Amino acid sequence: MYPSHLIYKSLLQREPLFKGETKCVFCKSPAPKNLKKVIKNTFTDLDYLQKGEGVCEACEFVLTDRKENSVRKMSAIFHEKGFLRFTALELADILFNFPKEIEPPFFFHLSYSKKKHLFFKGKVSFNKEEFWIQTDEGGFYFEPHRWKNVFKDIQNLYSIPEKEKSKKNPKTFFTKEEILTLNPNPRKVIEFGIEEFFTIKKRLEKVKNTLEYNMLVYAVRPK
Ligand SMILES: [Zn+2]
Repeated sequence: MYPSHLIYKSLLQREPLFKGETKCVFCKSPAPKNLKKVIKNTFTDLDYLQKGEGVCEACEFVLTDRKENSVRKMSAIFHEKGFLRFTALELADILFNFPKEIEPPFFFHLSYSKKKHLFFKGKVSFNKEEFWIQTDEGGFYFEPHRWKNVFKDIQNLYSIPEKEKSKKNPKTFFTKEEILTLNPNPRKVIEFGIEEFFTIKKRLEKVKNTLEYNMLVYAVRPK
């Protein structure tokens, strides 16, 4: 199943109609000869295009959607019965407590920039225990149970020290930038606890610089 077909169904609650004398450059479905009309000069992901001279109804719908809440401007899980739009604040909960009401197949669309089209880079998922997440940094299969402890460590580093808790804008032990590099200011390490920090750092070094790690740092909230 091609992501745009599922997105089309999810948003319009009907099947796209595939007809035309050529093939869609994204999904190879039958399409009319409309390539030049649909694909603008601003489209830069030419490497993803297949042979053909058209764009099918489903891909055209996703690509030319200009509404404020168009696909590329939101993070959402698209499925056959509808879609669940989520914010960065809700991401962690969705990742580790996958919404019960969503049945596969689904397309997990996580847009950091809210600018780029991602649908033709991703994959539709058929399993809630291991699913494809498409972000603007890249796509990957995510297995929540394998990342639970990593997220706990990240959460620990991003927790709020006791003395900050009464403040209006409490600071976390480390910033997200420091958690991404794992190279924080030594003063902060002392405050957090040297031994505990290096125990966590040793575990996180193994997964640092991965798309999964970056996503989890993006998702973490101060606690
Ligand atoms: Zn298509």
